Amino acid sequence: MRQAALAVAVVVATAAPGAADPAGPSKKDRERATKSTHHPAPPVPGTKPAKLVNLTNQWTNEWLAVDPAAPPDRAVIDRFLRDHFTNKPAAMDPRLIDIVAAAANNFRSDTAVVVSGFRHPKYNLILRKKGHQVARDSQHTHGNAIDFFIPRIPVETLHAWAKAQALGGVGLYLESNFVHMDTGKIRYWSGE
Ligand SMILES: [Zn+2]
Repeated sequence: MRQAALAVAVVVATAAPGAADPAGPSKKDRERATKSTHHPAPPVPGTKPAKLVNLTNQWTNEWLAVDPAAPPDRAVIDRFLRDHFTNKPAAMDPRLIDIVAAAANNFRSDTAVVVSGFRHPKYNLILRKKGHQVARDSQHTHGNAIDFFIPRIPVETLHAWAKAQALGGVGLYLESNFVHMDTGKIRYWSGE
């Protein structure tokens, strides 16, 4: 009974005189129109926010947001990929950042993790003496290599993508869970 009474009330209100004024827009419409001028400007066609790829350096815990359409400054890249042991940067091949951003984009990830960028010759030697699997004249010591992975993407899948780029050296480190890419000669190998 209560519901039926309410329904009647709604019908009465709708049919009330003045709700639809044939002389012009109702007070409500005029208010709405006034308010609409305060809305933020609509987006300009053809523009949208840049899709950023967030790189993080596993050693320094630093982050670098990369807009693939407008890569970061060279000095910013060099600092981000610096040798964590000596804290020294080097002139990095800027294509390395493009490569990592492209890999993340390919796998629809907004994040990529950098395991190693520049490796100072001093640090490279220490690693060799400790028996680590690093080349004497590693491309890392020339600023031409990057080790990285994409969260949630199997390293074998990333490795297949890396080889398909035919850009330079590609190493698969299955146990350590990263892929090495460098801008030197095209060659392939596997590590641990
Ligand atoms: Zn490497």
